[in-house]
Amino acid sequence: MRIELEKLEESGGRFSRTYEIDQLAFDELELRLIEPVKVEARIRRKTEEVELRGKLRTKIAILCGRCLKSVELSIDVEFAERFTPAVSWKHEEQHELSEDDLNLAAFDGEAIELDDLVREEIILALPGHVLCDETCKGLCPTCGADLNAGSCDCAAKQIDSRWEKLKDLRF
Ligand SMILES: [Zn+2]
Ligand SMILES: [Zn+2]
Repeated sequence: MRIELEKLEESGGRFSRTYEIDQLAFDELELRLIEPVKVEARIRRKTEEVELRGKLRTKIAILCGRCLKSVELSIDVEFAERFTPAVSWKHEEQHELSEDDLNLAAFDGEAIELDDLVREEIILALPGHVLCDETCKGLCPTCGADLNAGSCDCAAKQIDSRWEKLKDLRF
């Protein structure tokens, strides 16, 4: 989704956009949108750079890190990003990357491409460890049974086999 800077002059740089569920994909993660993403933001021009501040809201589904059940999460975050024209990057020959520069996303001087930013902000908003429940027991590493639904007999079998070995030792 491109945001044309010229068209924003009347609104003082403010804009709002909605990404429908099928307009933003997260191929690399086990993550999908279950509600549209609502973005409200304001763009300010500063000589060459453009500063973008705003917030976004959505709801996503992601897999529990232990049992792989789908978990719904509400996302409501604020963000700030600076964009600089791609051309001015190239002219600076000995540009040392500072932490600030890593936040400088390139734009073509006329419009900002919003997709990557929105995707990135949603991923950053995720907790490091997504669980369906703090007490989730996960899947059995041996048979894959969901241990929240009941225990399998793998643990018992392992104990049995240890007893078998002890028997061997005795004889
Ligand atoms: Zn779980
Ligand atoms: Zn098992």
